[in-house]
Amino acid sequence: MKYTVITGASSGIGYEAALAFAARGKNMILAARRTDELDKLKAKVAEINPDLDVVIRTVDLSIAANVHGFYESLQAYSIETWINNAGFGNFASVGEQHLPKIEQMLHLNIEALTILSSLYVRDYADVDGTQIINISSGGGYTIVADAVTYCATKFYVSAFTEGLAQELKGKNAAMQAKVLAPAATETEFAKHSFNVDEFEYEGRVPKFHTAEQMAGFLLELYDSESVVGIVDGLTYDFELREP
Ligand code: NDP
Repeated sequence: MKYTVITGASSGIGYEAALAFAARGKNMILAARRTDELDKLKAKVAEINPDLDVVIRTVDLSIAANVHGFYESLQAYSIETWINNAGFGNFASVGEQHLPKIEQMLHLNIEALTILSSLYVRDYADVDGTQIINISSGGGYTIVADAVTYCATKFYVSAFTEGLAQELKGKNAAMQAKVLAPAATETEFAKHSFNVDEFEYEGRVPKFHTAEQMAGFLLELYDSESVVGIVDGLTYDFELREP
């Protein structure tokens, strides 16, 4: 039996992605800190397809020791797709950020993603049909004012994943690496990170996507041979392209 791992599945884009992958008949390992939300999601997946196996892992991935333990706890499963979606953003100018929030962004967006990607590539790079999809952001390609640290972590995600894709291709590895850059999306993250009515992107106020739309783009990227999927926050276009 094969599994799709989705980190940050308890809400937002990860939650909708889990429903979309359930509709595709995928068994899943769903991770986040809130067990109750993951349990509710598991019940919803069972409504879509009662034959699917859904494994729940409650884990705080901003703590390095947990990251290793989380990965090790999945040794019994055969993982065909790994989606590093869990992410955190604190929007404030550099001098006004709270240190714990900076640390959380660095630990979750960079450290956990890098460790999990590296372990998955180590173990599965030569397994046919495998892919890793890392969730960056429009801010991972264009810096947004007063969100410099968050954007820098997402630039890292984009660079790391595009580089990984090139490395895998250079080695003729079986695994594909891909990066999705969502635009502003109505989720808990967005609610807590910036004022939806005042948020500006390249001098304009973007309209927000739904998490369901973003999960649809994620599936499009999953189905494609392209490395990069970028959602344009101003035009709503979704562009698949190479690094
Ligand atoms: P949500 O806040 O809805 O989802 C974030 C998910 O990550 C939740 O399931 C949360 O679950 C989990 N998570 C957060 N911190 C941790 C942690 N320390 N350990 C484990 N899991 C954690 O936001 P989105 O759906 O918007 O975000 C998903 C991804 O999309 C992120 O990487 C974000 O940066 C990116 N993105 C979002 C955009 C937007 O406008 N919404 C735009 C561009 C990119 P729990 O709290 O239960 O741990």
